[in-house]
Amino acid sequence: MAQALGAPCPGGAPGQPRVFKLVLLGSNSVGKSSLALRYVKNDFKSILPTVGCAFFTKELGSGAASMRLEIWDTAGQEKYHSICHLYFRGADAALLVYDITKKDSFRKAQQWLQDLEREAPPGDVVVMLVGNKTDIEEQREVTFQEGKEFAESKQLLFMEASAKLSYQVTEVFGAIARELLQREERKKGQPRTGDGGLALGGAPARQARCCAR
Ligand code: GDP
Ligand code: MG
Repeated sequence: MAQALGAPCPGGAPGQPRVFKLVLLGSNSVGKSSLALRYVKNDFKSILPTVGCAFFTKELGSGAASMRLEIWDTAGQEKYHSICHLYFRGADAALLVYDITKKDSFRKAQQWLQDLEREAPPGDVVVMLVGNKTDIEEQREVTFQEGKEFAESKQLLFMEASAKLSYQVTEVFGAIARELLQREERKKGQPRTGDGGLALGGAPARQARCCAR
């Protein structure tokens, strides 16, 4: 993804890609891991082993516009609705996924969003709502309009996709990446905060970490 940016990363060394943490959120089996696998490896598997705390990275752009997305996947804890704090901590973006053929997964998306908002104030994190599995349209239980209205009411980005058919998967992650870069650009001119820290958006590039469970 080529994105014209004037200056190098405010938090990272010049020439180094900016690092952004993106967390996958949503109920069990909605296709979170499949979306990440499709995006990062252009692969799809009907059975995906969920072992430990899966972690994907993807480099985007080049030169001053380069960035690295660190994509955190759950280890199945979402089944018990018990995602640890470290999972959310420092997230720059979240992919909030539901299954368009499961109304319940759409209702639960609201809860996942509340969990995220408990950890990070609304507006701090770029959130993309994704209705996955559009390839099984005949089983659809959530309309496009319902997804769109929910996203608008919460000021989220919104798309429908299919990890299986590789439909709109690149676009989903690309839109998040674009929004992250644009936010950073907008925040660059903001003054420093009174406590000596940087105003939001000036956070340094983050190190890779994993859930301590
Ligand atoms: P997770 O629990 O949210 O990580 O979901 P998974 O990625 O493990 O996927 C759960 C099941 O849904 C697996 O059997 C996948 O093959 C299937 N799946 C994932 N994405 C799609 C999709 O776009 N279309 C269809 N038909 N099945 C999908
Ligand atoms: Mg998974």
